[in-house]
Formats: sequence, structure tokens, C-alpha cells
Amino acid sequence: MSATPVAPEGGAVGTAPARREKPYSYCNLPIVPSREFSRAVNPRRAELVRLFGQKWVNGAVLHYHFMDDPAEWKGAEGQKQVVRKAFEAWKNVGIGLSFQEVQDRNDAEIRIGFQDGDGAWSYIGRDVLDQGTDDRTMNFGWDIRAEIDTAIHEIGHTLGFPHERQNPKAGIVWDEEAVSRALAGEPNFWSREKTFHNIISKIQPDKQNPAGLGSGLELGC
Ligand SMILES: [Zn+2]
Repeated sequence: MSATPVAPEGGAVGTAPARREKPYSYCNLPIVPSREFSRAVNPRRAELVRLFGQKWVNGAVLHYHFMDDPAEWKGAEGQKQVVRKAFEAWKNVGIGLSFQEVQDRNDAEIRIGFQDGDGAWSYIGRDVLDQGTDDRTMNFGWDIRAEIDTAIHEIGHTLGFPHERQNPKAGIVWDEEAVSRALAGEPNFWSREKTFHNIISKIQPDKQNPAGLGSGLELGC
């Protein structure tokens, strides 16, 4: 006789999690222009600078701060708690980086807002260092108290991971019209440009991990 299976979070076994029953909100990364070099710079050197420019140095301690000014960036304590746990989850992976919460935005490389309706996004890797200390480098635009995967996903961008779906070696051929139509509707309301930047376009050769596949974030938020 086997024991009756129990769903881990108390829901009925076999039913989809609630968030899958509603339209999916996708992560929307800011557009950052590619770094330009003078013609005097050897193209191979420029390629390597671009390739490693977003990577953190092994052993680095990254500081994060929850922005509370202006007020619309301020997050509820329950949401902050989820983000703290997500940083802990990444630390426990043993990737050579650790994280520390700080109370002064000027001490933080990572500045996090919770502006409702502004989508979930983060700058990639060390691009966060190019943002002013009064600016966010990451946002959560909907309630993530039951979505630690969204927080893990956005922190993954801050650590330097792009979207795996945009890996040119992934072999994905989109029905671009259908994708644009789907994301133009609720709850994303994306322009075609935004959909192209976040879904359709491929990662440029000088931003690809030489290891190829498996170097980015799965199709998540
Ligand atoms: Zn993303």
C-alpha cells in the first residue's frame, strides 16, 4: 500500500501552480549600447574586452540595497525577504560570489526597486556599475512573494547571465508575428521593439560564452 502523495505547498496533487493559470509576465531587460572602440584598438582585443566586460571577478562581494526613495520603488518586507533568500540560493551554488545587504545606496552595486507595473528586469553583469547611484539596477514589477524563481532569475542577470532563449546555438526559430502578438497583450503590453530585444534577437557573438549552450537563463520570467 502506498502513502497518499501530498503536494509540497498544500495544494491538490496534479493541479498546476496558480501562477501558470494566468498569462505569464516576462522579464524585460534594459537596452545597453555595445561598447565602441577606436580603430586603433585591435579587433581581437575589443572582442575580448566586450566578452569579459560584464563578468565579475571571482571572490567578489556584491552589495545590494533596497531602494525606498522615491516611494513607488519601496517594496513590502515580504518581497524583500524573497529577494534575500534568492541571493542566499545563488551564494549556496558556490559560484565564487557572495552578497551583502547594505543600508546606503552609495555602497551598493545592486539597487533594487519594486515599482509596480514596471516589469521585472536587471542590467547584465557589470553593466550595473554604469548606472548612477540614484538609479535602480533591478526591478520587480509584480508581487513576487510566492515567486522566488523570479528573484533568482533577475539576480542571475546581475551575475552576468543573458537569456538562454537568445543563444544563437539554441536553434530556436520563432514565429515572430505570433510572439509579438502574444506579448503585445496582457499582462506584458510590449512594443515590437521590446519583444525583439528580449525574445527574438540573438546574443551577439562578442557577448557569447565560448562554452556555448547552457550559459544563460532558461525561459523563465
Ligand atoms: Zn530575464
